[in-house]
Amino acid sequence: MTSSEAASAPTGWPPLREELRGLEPYGAPQLDVPVQLNVNENPYGPSAECVADIATAVAEAAGSLNRYPDREFVELRAALAGYLARDTPHDIDAAQVWAANGSNEVMLQLLQAFGGPGRVALSFAPTYSMYPEYARDTMTEWVQGHREGDFSLDLDHARDLIKERQPSVVLLPSPNNPTGTALPPEAVTTLCETAAESERGGIVVVDEAYGEFRRSGTPSALELLPQHRNLVVSRTMSKAFALAGARVGYLAAAPEICDAIRVVRLPYHLSAVTQAVALAALRHAPELLGRVDELRAERDATVSWLRGQGLTVADSDANFALFGTFADRHAVWQRLLDRGVLIREVGPDGWLRVSIGTAEEMATFRQALTEVL
Ligand code: PMP
Repeated sequence: MTSSEAASAPTGWPPLREELRGLEPYGAPQLDVPVQLNVNENPYGPSAECVADIATAVAEAAGSLNRYPDREFVELRAALAGYLARDTPHDIDAAQVWAANGSNEVMLQLLQAFGGPGRVALSFAPTYSMYPEYARDTMTEWVQGHREGDFSLDLDHARDLIKERQPSVVLLPSPNNPTGTALPPEAVTTLCETAAESERGGIVVVDEAYGEFRRSGTPSALELLPQHRNLVVSRTMSKAFALAGARVGYLAAAPEICDAIRVVRLPYHLSAVTQAVALAALRHAPELLGRVDELRAERDATVSWLRGQGLTVADSDANFALFGTFADRHAVWQRLLDRGVLIREVGPDGWLRVSIGTAEEMATFRQALTEVL
């Protein structure tokens, strides 16, 4: 090797960005166990009628798979706008809606458009654990503030941090994952106003992946869209719609924000099959969402039961509950797994998160936890 070859030789193989070297890929373990309550899926699959409609729609799409799909997915955007109208008294236009392969991709695209070197993305811990990954992958600086002991936002701290760090993107899950706590609309308004006043006029993303599971009386941030042009509300079909396997996420925002994403998205990112599945499922929205009420009732019962065991449980507006605190949470997680119940070690140390499954699955979880405690 010549000296110039030695100087330019990579320090390891493959020639990765240094900050990626040695990292594990993101994701909870996918284990084949009887009761899977670890990734906040909907335990109910789509009904037989919905499955039949999806199959017909996919068969129709299959006939044209030699062609690229509609890059702008016009029909799907209009259908999603129609669906979102149930959560706000204001009109939502198709030009205000964007979709991608899961809300993870929607938010990555937001970071691609609004983040980047020299820019900051901000959230408040504990928060959704994928956010720092979008920041890392788009070379955006990741800044994390804190929450109160009950996991609500400390608004003074949040405002100060926005003023100080001038984030281009503020990421606020509501209901929050992993805690389940929802943000009051006043907090969203304050943060949108503070971000709008900052030098860069950052966007505020309210990630409502679990929005449909809100307790009644908790409004969606969709209602605030007309007041804040920097507000983005992200949703997904993975949770309430029971379509995690189809990978469809979407957002509502000012049309200028959707136009900005159109610049960075890969052409034809939503396949014709995905578009067909989403459109067919949206026609079954009332029936799919009927199951949400059952899950909310099961969630409330689970939270009460856990509290009855003397555990601390975060208030939940989502399809999961965060509970603790354990001196050795891994031991509890493992002992539940030994009994065929898979939950998640996530959130602050000592806490565990259980997704809400069917009544039967929750009975198995309760039995297993009683044996473990
Ligand atoms: N946001 C939050 C808060 C989540 O918990 C999740 C999934 N666990 C997502 C977004 C991403 O979901 P998907 O990509 O399936 O839409």
